[in-house]
Amino acid sequence: SPVDVYRVMSHVASTFEPEAAEKNTVIEVSAEEELPKAYADPDRLEQILKNLVKNAVKFTEDGRISLKARSEPGFIQLCVSDTGIGISPDDQEMIWERFFKVDRGRSKKNRGTGLGLAIVRELVDLHGGTISVRSEIGKGTVFELRLPTIHTALEGGNSSC
Ligand code: ATP
Ligand code: MG
Repeated sequence: SPVDVYRVMSHVASTFEPEAAEKNTVIEVSAEEELPKAYADPDRLEQILKNLVKNAVKFTEDGRISLKARSEPGFIQLCVSDTGIGISPDDQEMIWERFFKVDRGRSKKNRGTGLGLAIVRELVDLHGGTISVRSEIGKGTVFELRLPTIHTALEGGNSSC
C-alpha cells in the first residue's frame, strides 16, 4: 500500500534517539516537500530502516546519523548515513551474506547475529527496490535505498482494468 516514508523515518529515528544519545550521536531526518508515497508494506519498511539505523548507532560514536528521502522518477530514494567506523571495500561485498560480521569473534561490541542486512536485502528485493552501500574506513557509511512509487510498482499490470 502507499506509505508515507517520512512518517516511518521519523518513527524509527525517535525509537533509536535515546540509544544514540548515550553515544553522543544525533539522528536527523529530512525529506523533500511533497514526497510521493512509496508502494511498500509499512511494517516491512519499518523493519528495513530499523536494521539500518540500529547498525548506524552500533558503529558510530560522537557523530551524526541522518535519514534522508527524496523523489526520483518512479522511485523514492532513501539514504541512511553515519559518521561511524566505516566498512572496508572487501567487507562491503560481504556484509549482505547471512551471518557475516566484520571482525567476527574479535569485536565484543558487536553482539548481532549478522542477519540484519541479509534480511534488509531480501525485503528490498521483494519490494522491487534496490540497495547499495558506500563507505570509507574512519569516515562513515551510507546505505542508499530505492523503493518504487505506486505507478512503477504496478506497471506492467493490466492497465485496462
Ligand atoms: P544483526 O543485524 O543480525 O543484529 P549485525 O548487525 O552484526 O547483526 P548486519 O546488520 O547484517 O549484522 O551487518 C553485518 C556487518 O556489517 C556488521 O556486523 C558490521 O560489521 C557491518 N556493518 C553494518 N552496518 C554498518 C555500519 N553502519 N557501519 C559499520 N559497519 C557496519
Ligand atoms: Mg545489524
